[in-house]
Amino acid sequence: MATRIDGNRIRDEIKDELKPRVARLAAHKRPPGLVAVLVGHNPASEVYVRNKVKTAHDLGICSEKITPPDSIRTEELLALVDQLNAREEVDGILVQLPLPKQVDAKRILLAVSPEKDVDGFHPFNVGCLVAALPAPRACTPAGIIQLLKRSNIPIAGKRAVVVGRSDIVGKPVALLLLHEHATVTICHSKTADLPGVCREADILVAAMGRAALIDAACIKPGATVIDVGMNSLTSRDDVARIFRNSAEKLAAFDAKGSVLVGDVDPIAMVKKSGAYTPVPGGVGPLTIAMLMANTVESAERRLGVC
Ligand code: NDP
Repeated sequence: MATRIDGNRIRDEIKDELKPRVARLAAHKRPPGLVAVLVGHNPASEVYVRNKVKTAHDLGICSEKITPPDSIRTEELLALVDQLNAREEVDGILVQLPLPKQVDAKRILLAVSPEKDVDGFHPFNVGCLVAALPAPRACTPAGIIQLLKRSNIPIAGKRAVVVGRSDIVGKPVALLLLHEHATVTICHSKTADLPGVCREADILVAAMGRAALIDAACIKPGATVIDVGMNSLTSRDDVARIFRNSAEKLAAFDAKGSVLVGDVDPIAMVKKSGAYTPVPGGVGPLTIAMLMANTVESAERRLGVC
């Protein structure tokens, strides 16, 4: 029977460990400060930022949300980021993506001071990741390493296959696994014989954004499968096919009009893997927890409280 890796439990564990660190900072200097910049009214971004700000608040981190209008220009947003860089009590700045088309997102991410870049997206911090130097790490990849370590899944010497090569998930998680001494292969849309490569994996990380594409033929029996994908199924037929007519999932679809599924066939994953992360409740909860960890670490570093 495969072990279900409980992302919510591990998230709570990490949050509980952060609470005394936040309290120590507040007692000695001041609480950590996090500012989220949310441009416009993207509904998904609004939910993400609300959850981030609420989690920060629950932990005692001073959090603030700044909501410039959709019409903001690159120069205006750069000026706002400069102001946040200069504010002493701000330890973490997160600019929620995506940004409107007229804004040069690369220039904005470059403008965030690397020491306050709690998303770990600044090229300076990406360079630190490559060189294995201490710096904020991208949150979802860092969360995946926490899920593996806290579930006592060995990484050193194992074959890891990462499907997806994005800057925010695929590449950084591959580098983190490499630093943990896994032998790592990165796959993408042009990879030949994807199932054959995936079947070599002791640890398989799926981060493609393709609903249930990784099927039984891709999973080595007993492998650990980390499903990063978050895909919304909006067709009842797809729900019936992917969840093998599960009455529970069909009822959820009928009530809400959509059902969430990862990049891995959920039934095959439970049957063939040794351990797996469910969707939802696996990788997702770790992303915000690691953002909080990066914010607390930034405050400790900037205030000299460790
Ligand atoms: P991107 O779209 O930026 O990257 C997708 C990657 O998957 C690309 O490298 C692409 O290859 C590869 N890919 C796409 N189709 C295939 C295929 N058929 N075979 C092999 N590789 C393929 O996605 P992200 O990295 O941003 O996100 C991936 C998934 O993770 C999404 O579902 C997203 O919602 C989810 N996510 C979840 C988070 C969480 O907190 N749980 C956080 C971030 C993302 P190529 O480069 O060749 O195009």
